[in-house]
Amino acid sequence: MLLNCDPNDRDGTMKLIDDLTSNANQVQEQVLEEILTRNADTDYLHTFLGSCTAKDLFKLKVPIVNYEDIKPYIEQIANGGPSRIISAEPISELLTSSGTSGGQPKMMPSTAEDLNRKTFLYDLLVPVMNRYVDGLDQGKGMYLLFIKPEISTPSGLMARPVLTSYYKSSNFRNRPFNKFNIYTSPNETILCSDSKQSMYCQLLCGLIQRDEVLRVGAVFASAFLRAIKFLEDHWKELCSNIREGHVSDWITDPSCRTAVADILKQPNPKLADAIEYECSKRSWEGIIKRLWRRTKYVEVIVTGSMAQYIPTLDFYGGGLPLVSTMYASSECYFGINLKPLSKPSEVCYTLLPNMAYFEFLPVEKNQHSLCNGVSDSSGLKPDHPKHKPQQWEEVVDLVDVKIGHYYELIVTTFTGLYRYRVGDILMVTGFHNKAPQFKFMHRRNVILSIDADKTNEEDLLGAVTKAKTLLEPLDCLMTEYTSYADASSIPGHYVLFWELKMRGGSDLSELDSTIMEKCCETIEESLDSVYRRLRTHDHSIGPLEIRVVKHGTFDALMDYCVSQGSSVNQYKTPRCIKSKGALEILEMRVVRRFFSRKAPVWDPYMIDGC
Ligand code: AMP
Repeated sequence: MLLNCDPNDRDGTMKLIDDLTSNANQVQEQVLEEILTRNADTDYLHTFLGSCTAKDLFKLKVPIVNYEDIKPYIEQIANGGPSRIISAEPISELLTSSGTSGGQPKMMPSTAEDLNRKTFLYDLLVPVMNRYVDGLDQGKGMYLLFIKPEISTPSGLMARPVLTSYYKSSNFRNRPFNKFNIYTSPNETILCSDSKQSMYCQLLCGLIQRDEVLRVGAVFASAFLRAIKFLEDHWKELCSNIREGHVSDWITDPSCRTAVADILKQPNPKLADAIEYECSKRSWEGIIKRLWRRTKYVEVIVTGSMAQYIPTLDFYGGGLPLVSTMYASSECYFGINLKPLSKPSEVCYTLLPNMAYFEFLPVEKNQHSLCNGVSDSSGLKPDHPKHKPQQWEEVVDLVDVKIGHYYELIVTTFTGLYRYRVGDILMVTGFHNKAPQFKFMHRRNVILSIDADKTNEEDLLGAVTKAKTLLEPLDCLMTEYTSYADASSIPGHYVLFWELKMRGGSDLSELDSTIMEKCCETIEESLDSVYRRLRTHDHSIGPLEIRVVKHGTFDALMDYCVSQGSSVNQYKTPRCIKSKGALEILEMRVVRRFFSRKAPVWDPYMIDGC
């Protein structure tokens, strides 16, 4: 079930999508049969199925699993065990996910063949976009793409994020010359391991070729906004490079220098003046449209936790359409957005039935989410009975999901994952032919996310518990807390609201700043390695902030949540705030603010996802 698509052939590609989605059930049956037949002799499937490959038995006997269940198998492979523990095809590398397990990144198996499956999905995106936007062959895309550190496991397998793997592959580097596929960033600048040099060079190339740029973007909204912030900090130097026709000396990566010099052929004072004129205006509103005047849209994922960046993107983009093209993960690439120009709030993804075998665990709507961590009125509590194995029988196939219902996605992949819970909660919005379309709702358990970090309630509780012991010398108790992902600044940062009770009647104004700052730092030190990397190495998360609120604030929060429909009996303080009203209740009662003064320790030899 490995398909090819010619991105230049719009009609052929649309017909292929039509065939796949019209025959979603048959394609899924075929996919499952192929996976089971191929992998019948793997240790994993053999344990549950013997040598039988009957599909019905698969559903009956093979358990639905979380990462913790399969971790021992993955670790065996990382330590030199044979691929056939889980996969008939050799595992060629391990893909590190931004999800963590015990504070460390999860690792997903991958095979050489799977790279072609991913390429297939990327190739579909071009013709789909061409249906809605004309003339994309008349210019270039300024896509800011980056690689991340990689390590070798004890068995010699490479462990790295899925995008790093893809960008380094020949599928990406030698992508067929295609009018729709020309980027302003030379491969050398994307593949530069120094993220600052990579960013600088990509922006420089984008600015030099500004008149050719028809679309701009990055994978996730957070990365794109980080690039805008970088531009705000470096535009003078970039302009000076363009004016003089010389790349700054601190760009020391030889391949980057050569690639950029090829584009920056000679001094161009006129271009430098034009860029300087726009960048030196007091407001940067609409800067994308002003600098890259032919841009038709901004291609960044703005669904899920990235939705928090929409207002900032609208500000810089001056109303350019925001396009979320695909839904994918380290486990598997899932599907695409067939209406790329739809409003961010209406984006839905059509899962492509040839990519994996998909199953869906029904999830009940959560009635208590108005002030809660989830972004709308749906949600799944971590302890919800639907998470328990006895609910397996309720699992449904791709074509049997119902419109308006919520499900957690389960995948069986070509790469050795069987009935694996991805952890994403999706809602069915409709069907494209026989294939359902889904809105991405949220990630199971995750309450805070700024970039690729995924902090859950337990992690946050653990970190807060450690930090609050520091309050003891102050003779002060932390009585309540909640959190908020503040995306209004670039980079965004975690905010914790703390209600404190001073024992000896002393005033909150007397709080010791040094201790409170230490509390911020302790929380950051206690968060997982993905958070620490983004905060310390990538600088895509800003210093954590504690906002101390007045006595009685959390009572006011409860009153508000109850007024909005929460039950008094079952009320629990929401550990993350997304509702605007609830946030206002807290904000108006803030009396002190404290920030981390130093970034947490992050070990560069411990790689992590995205
Ligand atoms: P990773 O495990 O680091 O590969 O991240 C994959 C996860 O990112 C998915 O399981 C989703 O939770 C999230 N994700 C990927 N694509 C999208 C999208 N288009 N919209 C919202 N969330 C997404």
